Amino acid sequence: MSKLGFSSLAIHAGQSPDPTTGAVNVPIYATSTYVQEGIGKNKGYEYSRVSNPTRTALEESLAALEGGHSAHVFASGMAAIQAVLMRCSAGDHIICGSNVYGGTPRLFNQVLSRFGLRFTYVDTRDLGAVEKAFAREGNRTRLLFVETPTNPLMELCDLHACAALAHSFGAELVVDNTFMSPFFQRPLDLGADIVVHSTTKFLNGHSDGLGGVAVVNTEERAEQLRFQQKCTGGILSPFECFLLLRGVKTLPVRMRQHDANGRRIAQWLTTRRQVERVFYPGLTSHPQHELAKRQMTGFGSMISFETGSLERANHVLSKVRLCSLAESLGGVETLISHPATMTHAALGAEGREAIGITDGMVRISVGLEDPEDIEADLGQALLG
Ligand SMILES: *Cc1c(COP(=O)(O)O)cnc(C)c1O
Repeated sequence: MSKLGFSSLAIHAGQSPDPTTGAVNVPIYATSTYVQEGIGKNKGYEYSRVSNPTRTALEESLAALEGGHSAHVFASGMAAIQAVLMRCSAGDHIICGSNVYGGTPRLFNQVLSRFGLRFTYVDTRDLGAVEKAFAREGNRTRLLFVETPTNPLMELCDLHACAALAHSFGAELVVDNTFMSPFFQRPLDLGADIVVHSTTKFLNGHSDGLGGVAVVNTEERAEQLRFQQKCTGGILSPFECFLLLRGVKTLPVRMRQHDANGRRIAQWLTTRRQVERVFYPGLTSHPQHELAKRQMTGFGSMISFETGSLERANHVLSKVRLCSLAESLGGVETLISHPATMTHAALGAEGREAIGITDGMVRISVGLEDPEDIEADLGQALLG
């Protein structure tokens, strides 16, 4: 299948017609176990924590889209990130971007650090700072964990350079690619070793199911993640796998429209006098616009903007009607949120200030509605 284009892979990779009925879609194999013909004789499936045919189809599909060796799906994005980290041992050091999804440092600091893993947070825009963090630890750093663009500040890091740096210190580069999806950014092609996603977001695309995936580039890493699935059991159920397979088929068309709407709304926001600053990598005013053009093939639909104060942000969020005030992102509907009190509340005021998240900041995940309707809604909410 490797010669097919991205859209063809999104529809066909891992999914051939059902051999018994000809059904074009992979059935939901609602089974926990599989009858064996004799001792050690089976059709490749023994127990659904280990593997399930609906999950196999999804894993093959996601591996093809990221250009990886294999993909391993979990019950949520956090479960996928945890599985990647559970390959480490007490004493191992991990360098993590200082501006990542709020749940990631919560898992690292409040759960995994109790098992002896050690974490250092670095602004990954600054490669010199990343190198210093590696050098301080000798060769004890096991992973460099980054997100690009980041949530909610839309800061980028140079994946090619991060991969080279990690490898020079004998570490792996792990990239959370949730915001871009493989349609706009393929970290494995740029040298990353593992890509993780909250499939809850753009890969699913319809805000109707949670999920996570880790895509790896070697059989050795595949073996490690299969072992995590089997040992810790945080796998994705066959029904959720089916929903995700269905969502992924339209990933290219959705992402093209998300990107078109995102560019338009970001540009429009820059013309509003009530908006002090717009954070979107597709704007030529974005400080890393050149890097964005180099390592991404689109800019997506995640935008943050500065209203100037908590009161102004609250005003906008309470007046929107078409846009829904909600956490999460990447669905067909436009979602709007307040990072300081929602996704990044756990960081505390000081933590937020250190990375530049203000009380007046609003984040939008631009959906697939008509862009003039989104503009009209935001326009009336910004007034007054
Ligand atoms: C949502 C999100 C996660 C966590 O995923 P869940 O599916 O909610 O567990 C991780 N990283 C990023 C960038 C996210 O947006």
